[in-house]
Amino acid sequence: MKFRFSIFLCGLALAAPFCNAQADFLRHTAPAAPASPDPTILRALKTIQPSRIEETINTLVRFSTRNTLSSMETDLPQGQGITAAADWIAGQFDQISKECGGCLEVHRDTFTEPVGSRIPKPTTITNIYAILRGSDPVQAKRMVLVTGHYDSRITNVLDARGPAPGANDDASGVAVSLECARALSKLHFPATLVFVAVAGEEQGLNGSRHLAKLAHSGGWQLEAVLNNDIVGGNTTPGDTLQLKDRVRVFSEGVPSVATPEQARRIHLLGEESDSASRQVARAVADTARSYFANAKGAPFHAVLIFRPDRYGRGGDHTSFNQEGFAAVRFTEWREDFNHQHQNVVMPAAGSGAPILGDLAQFVDFSYVAKVARLNAATLATLASSPGEPVKVAFTPGKLEDGTTLRWDAPAGTVNHYDVLWRETSAPDWQFVQKVKPEAAGATITITVPVSKDNVVFGVRAVDAAGHRSLVVVP
Ligand SMILES: [Zn+2]
Repeated sequence: MKFRFSIFLCGLALAAPFCNAQADFLRHTAPAAPASPDPTILRALKTIQPSRIEETINTLVRFSTRNTLSSMETDLPQGQGITAAADWIAGQFDQISKECGGCLEVHRDTFTEPVGSRIPKPTTITNIYAILRGSDPVQAKRMVLVTGHYDSRITNVLDARGPAPGANDDASGVAVSLECARALSKLHFPATLVFVAVAGEEQGLNGSRHLAKLAHSGGWQLEAVLNNDIVGGNTTPGDTLQLKDRVRVFSEGVPSVATPEQARRIHLLGEESDSASRQVARAVADTARSYFANAKGAPFHAVLIFRPDRYGRGGDHTSFNQEGFAAVRFTEWREDFNHQHQNVVMPAAGSGAPILGDLAQFVDFSYVAKVARLNAATLATLASSPGEPVKVAFTPGKLEDGTTLRWDAPAGTVNHYDVLWRETSAPDWQFVQKVKPEAAGATITITVPVSKDNVVFGVRAVDAAGHRSLVVVP
């Protein structure tokens, strides 16, 4: 079945002389606005508390080192090293699952990483992840994943024994995964959520690469990967430039896996800022506006950074990008490099030298809680949404001043679609046109009086409660 919708808003809303003026249409059409928060999700977010995050980070620090290579040290004292940390994290997921009637499938995926530049001998690496299966048999194939890395390091990345607290990098990210699992496992979602803690990040993204390949070969329909790495809100006494009301969200523009032909097409059409990862980043920012922008006294924002990562740095989202998945990185606003990748050094009192080391005393647990709530709200929104519209396309070969778009319905039940557009120089969606589907499973076709030559278009699906899918560009 095929339905055609033509939108002549201009004719309805404006005086006739202006009707053909696209600039007027842009000005008078509805601006893209945040959705109302879902009260059930809001209640779940309130359960994410700094005290629990503090407990998690302090516990992870107490394993002394979580260097990935410590899995091969056979004579570490009881309760030290990365294997003990893995046991504890798996135990946390087991406990969370127990509290929701066994709702999580907890996996320990152990493998041997061969020798590499930062792996001097074959090394046992363990990823831990918990799956909350979607309640809808069709939509359960759709997955949204949150991850952090539980391994740590000091100055010498090959030092498997020296104290490596890794409180910010990246016990903070593991705390986000655990809190998302704790808060969201009490709810039901049509799509599937995956809560992850990987190892091997500091040795070369080994754990995440293994998991991303597993996801690829296993046919996981991962719609979005949220990687939290250094989300501690570093608090160094005297630092006046740290900002606690925001988190950076990094995303790649041109997909890592773009073939030369795809890269040529992206160049030709000016689609450098519309990768699937960038739509995930925009969805995070949209969720932040819905849930936290107006929080009284404590607004919280996602700052879109249109770059795969910080200069000269990498992270686990890259592993997923390289397997063709949409993935972004959350990182605090301002990093203090005295508190990352450093041997712990306590200077003599009065020396004026800074304390070195990634210690829990520099982590702001309230800040981590805010990042965790933003992650949880994004996971819950995407997993509740009907899923992405399918085969979004322009009508091919048509020279027109308006734009005709068509797409197929996603797996879930759609209340309406949002046709979005923005000026080519704008970072985020500016304008929206609601389109009602007349029948499930139909191909939708609409024409809007805006030229595709002048703007970027996208389409998302929205359910009756207002949960928005990711935006798909034609
Ligand atoms: Zn890290």
